Amino acid sequence: MSNKSRIWTRIDFNADGKHNDYLWVSHSSNSSAYGCILVPVICIRNGDGPTALLTAGNHGDEYEGQVALIRLARELNPEDVRGRVIIIPALNFPAVDAGRRVSPIDNGNLNRVFPGLANGTPTEMIAHYVDSVLFPQCDLVIDLHSGGRSLEYTPCALARHSPDPEHSRRVSDLLEVFGAPVSILTDGAGGGAATTLYAAASARGIPAITTELGGGATLTQPGLTIAEQGTRRVLKHYGITPDGQADLGAPLRLFNSGGPGRAIYATERGLFEPIAAVGQDVSAGQLAGYIHSHEKPLQAPIRLCFPADGMVSCRRFPTLTMPGDCLFNLANAL
Ligand SMILES: [Zn+2]
Repeated sequence: MSNKSRIWTRIDFNADGKHNDYLWVSHSSNSSAYGCILVPVICIRNGDGPTALLTAGNHGDEYEGQVALIRLARELNPEDVRGRVIIIPALNFPAVDAGRRVSPIDNGNLNRVFPGLANGTPTEMIAHYVDSVLFPQCDLVIDLHSGGRSLEYTPCALARHSPDPEHSRRVSDLLEVFGAPVSILTDGAGGGAATTLYAAASARGIPAITTELGGGATLTQPGLTIAEQGTRRVLKHYGITPDGQADLGAPLRLFNSGGPGRAIYATERGLFEPIAAVGQDVSAGQLAGYIHSHEKPLQAPIRLCFPADGMVSCRRFPTLTMPGDCLFNLANAL
């Protein structure tokens, strides 16, 4: 079976100008035998130069990046650009359309299926298109996430560790220019390992960052500002929008992701009462929160303590908690 993507678009990525169409993702269903899922894509090109791929809506309920990219796509014109900007604000469109993390069509979590499958589910087909068609055309990738329905994050940018010093330097440069208040280096142990969009881009040697800009399935102005200003700073720094305007970013504060060994997980059902806040510096043994039993009100609450020193990078957002839920993650200053 061919490994060529079945997704098509009417956009010619090599044509100058501002082009707006869709990724047409075949999806044959009861109601539409020859139907397609339409993923909006905007390509703005003006001559030779580097290409930036900007994505959001990889998870559907994370909004700062989606709104930042919709605004950028509206405002950016070919005369502002040297090179090319490819903008996809709602990458897993069915998830965005449903306001959910994963696609309601195939239950696909786009940021856990890279590098995807040419003949897979719609979500796998989107990952495969990004990896096999878009990445080879790109010089840098920014995939904008937030905490979504179940997490609250301290606003941060994240990138993967690399054994290659030259790649590490380019990634560190990208983090510094993006200018988030906190920058975290990850090894994938706490999340999607090699199955995420930014890990797949890194595996192809492309400098790639992702973000976490809030959470709770809502839109915060501070997170939106970081997404908008960071993206604009990066485009200007790479010479793609030489006359672009952007504020100064935050100075680089580099952290290592703590991974699951430094996280706190629930082992009982109950009501989660967080005591520590995201962004807070904590020490080993410090009280993090409680789980109260809603089934046995007179039972003593479970006392949660941090297993190590660190900065609270995120916490569980909903109160009702089940065994296995991640309640807190830590990052460590480098
Ligand atoms: Zn996400």
